[in-house]
Amino acid sequence: MTVPDITIAIDGYSSTGKSTFAKLIASTFGFLYLDSGAMYRGVTLFAMENGMISDGTIDEKALEASIGGLDLHFRRDEGATRLWLGDRCIESEIRTLAVSGMVSPVSAIPFVRAFVDSRLHSFSEGGRVVMDGRDIGTTVFPNAELKIFMVADDAVRAQRRFDEMVAKGQSPVFEDVLSNLRERDYIDSHRETSPLRQAEDAFVLDNSAMTLEEELIWIRGIIQGRFGILE
Ligand code: C5P
Repeated sequence: MTVPDITIAIDGYSSTGKSTFAKLIASTFGFLYLDSGAMYRGVTLFAMENGMISDGTIDEKALEASIGGLDLHFRRDEGATRLWLGDRCIESEIRTLAVSGMVSPVSAIPFVRAFVDSRLHSFSEGGRVVMDGRDIGTTVFPNAELKIFMVADDAVRAQRRFDEMVAKGQSPVFEDVLSNLRERDYIDSHRETSPLRQAEDAFVLDNSAMTLEEELIWIRGIIQGRFGILE
């Protein structure tokens, strides 16, 4: 199936499998995948490592003063896209529970959102991009030709994130993982600047009981219907 040069925006709650699905779309249809959450995690890691967060309080002035010079970028390496901070790959550091615990308050700050939005726009010049996040279809790419909003049961989502962390050698507590994702969903949907919400023209995908293969069949059907592709 030949998919036209479009932008696909995938939004949804934490750990609904957005990035796994977006990567599958990218590899199946030859799209560039961009993980906007990784950028917010990168800013959060930078703030933590530079003493701008203590006891859960963010030194917004210090962060604002240095964010303009922050060299956060993606690099493609053996088919995978990873986030780098200067000359250091930070892909695993940004996935810890410590970063997850601070990323939602950091990403609620308007100048942080403006910084990430402008980087996402510059990375995606040229189209044929699939991007996942919380506000891609509503704020970052409101004109995206295809928007998907992902949901899944809380317990299923927490188990997925838990398994992912265990596979990376971390030792999470299931209840902590569950409460972190509920807390992030709450902050993400209630913040003032571009809160998490379903775009009116988004297709909803509830993948609580779906395999990746079924998700691929679903998206093929959506693309065929939306763009009148017959094969
Ligand atoms: O997608 P991921 O769970 O890695 O995102 C981490 C956090 O980054 C989210 O909980 C949310 O607070 C923030 N985020 C956001 N807007 C996006 C993507 C992520 O606010 N577009």
